Amino acid sequence: MGFTVAIVGRPNVGKSTLFNRLVGKRLALVDDQPGVTRDLREGAARLADLRFTVIDTAGLEDATDDSLQGRMRRLTERAVGLADVCLFLVDARAGITALDQALADLLRRAGAEVILVANKAEGQAGSGGTWDAFGLGLGEPVAVSAEHGEGMQELYTRLAPLVDAAEEAAQAVQVEAETDVTLDEDAQDEARPGPRPGKPVQIAVVGRPNAGKSTLINRILGEDRLLTGPEAGITRDSISVEIDWGGQPMRVFDTAGMRKKARVQEKLEKLSVADGLRAVKFAEVVVLVVDVTSPFDQQDLRIADLAEREGRAVVVAVNKWDLETDKSNRARELREAFGRLLPQLSGAPLVLVSGLTGQGMDKLREAILSAYGVWNARIPTARLNTWLAGEVAAHPPPAPGGRRIKLRYMTQAKTRPPGFVVFASIPEAVPEAYRRFLVNGLRRDFDLPGTPIRLHLRGGA
Ligand code: GDP
Ligand code: GDP
Repeated sequence: MGFTVAIVGRPNVGKSTLFNRLVGKRLALVDDQPGVTRDLREGAARLADLRFTVIDTAGLEDATDDSLQGRMRRLTERAVGLADVCLFLVDARAGITALDQALADLLRRAGAEVILVANKAEGQAGSGGTWDAFGLGLGEPVAVSAEHGEGMQELYTRLAPLVDAAEEAAQAVQVEAETDVTLDEDAQDEARPGPRPGKPVQIAVVGRPNAGKSTLINRILGEDRLLTGPEAGITRDSISVEIDWGGQPMRVFDTAGMRKKARVQEKLEKLSVADGLRAVKFAEVVVLVVDVTSPFDQQDLRIADLAEREGRAVVVAVNKWDLETDKSNRARELREAFGRLLPQLSGAPLVLVSGLTGQGMDKLREAILSAYGVWNARIPTARLNTWLAGEVAAHPPPAPGGRRIKLRYMTQAKTRPPGFVVFASIPEAVPEAYRRFLVNGLRRDFDLPGTPIRLHLRGGA
C-alpha cells in the first residue's frame, strides 16, 4: 500500500474536504448501493511530488449523539492501526472542544505518529483556534484551509520527511534482503519483512464479468456483522472496504463497483481487465472467481497468470456451485483442470462456493488465510542448505560441456512471496529445467502450495 496517512478528527472539522483535496477528482466513483457497509474511505493522494494512500474516518454524522464518541474511538483506533501517520484535524474557528481533547488522548495513548492540523484557518478568524491547538500537547499545529487550499506547502514540509524516511527504510530492507546475503542468519531473520500483525489482509476479488464477484463481495460484507451498522447504505465511493471477517481484519478491493461504473460507459471488457490489474497490484491475496458453468476460460487464465507474475497469493473460488448437479465428479474434474491449466499455481486452494446461497464461505475464508500464511512463509537457512545438499546429491545439475556446476549455498532472501537465492559456481549454465526442479522441490518439501516461488541463481559465495 505504500505510505498511509489517516485523517482523523471529530465531525465537521473538514476531514472530507481535506480528503477530497488530497485525492482530487480521481475518486469520483459514486455508486449508490444499499446494503454495502462503508466506514473508512480510502484514496490515492498526491501532494506535490509525494504519493501516498489517504484514509478518511468521516461519515460519523449519522450516528446518534450518545454513540458518537464510542464509534469515533473505534474508527480512529482502526485508522491508527492502518496508518503510518495521522493528520489530526481540529477546527481553528470553533476552537478546541471536549471531543478534540478525548481524541488527542486516544492518539497519544495509541502511540500514533500525529501531525496536528488546524483547519479552516483562512483569514483572521482562524488564528485564535490555531494557538489553542498547542494546548493539546501534540506539537505545533499546521494551519491550513482545506477548502481554499491554503497551508498545503506547510503540510508538505511536515509530511515529506516521514514519507522519505519510510521509503528509505523499505528500500534498506529490500536491498539487504535481495543482495546482501550473508551467512549471518540471525541478522537476516530480523531484517526480513514478515506478516504484519494487526494489519488487514488485502484481498482483491477478480474474475471476468458475470462470474459473480459483486454477489460474492456482498456476501462477504454481509458476514461482517461487527461493522454492519447505521452507515449501511451510505454512498459508496471507496475503492476498498475494510471488514472483520470472523475476527480477521481484511481489506477487500472492490473492483466490481468500479466495473459497474464502467458498464455505464460501455467500455466493459477493456476496463474490467484494467481494473483487475490494478486490484491485483494492491492485493496480497487474489481471489479469482470463476463461473462453474464455464470454468477456466481464456480470461480466467490470463488473470491467474498475471496474479502469479505479480507475486500474489492466489485462491480460486469456483462460484455458482449451487447450480451444479453432479457435484462430486465435477469437483474432481475442476481440480484436474486447474492443475493442468495453471501449473504455476500448483496446489493453490480451490474452493467451491455460492455467493448466492453463502455456501462455502467458511472454506473461502480459511483458504485465504492459508494462502496468506504460505505467502509469508520463512524457512531457516540451515534447513534450506541441508535440503539443497540432499537434492544436489540425488540429482546433480548437468555438466554442460563437461563443466561441473556447483551449488554451494542457499538462503531465503524474501517473503511475500517466498524468494530464494542459490549461489552457484557458474549460475548462467544452470538450465531452466533444473531451476524448476528446485522450485518444485521447495514447494513439495517445505509445504508451499499455491504461492509463487522466486528462485534466483547467483555467482560468488
Ligand atoms: P468532516 O465531517 O470532518 O468530514 O467535515 P467536512 O469536510 O464535511 O466539512 C465540514 C464543514 O466545514 C463543511 O461545511 C465544509 O465546507 C467546511 N470546511 C471544510 N474545510 C474548511 C475550511 O478550510 N474553511 C472553512 N471556512 N470551512 C471549511
Ligand atoms: P460480476 O459481474 O462478476 O460482479 O457478477 P455478478 O455478481 O453481478 O453476478 C452475475 C450474475 O450471476 C447475476 O445474475 C448473479 O445473480 C448471478 N450469480 C452470482 N453468484 C451466483 C451464485 O453463486 N449462484 C448463482 N446461481 N448465480 C449467481
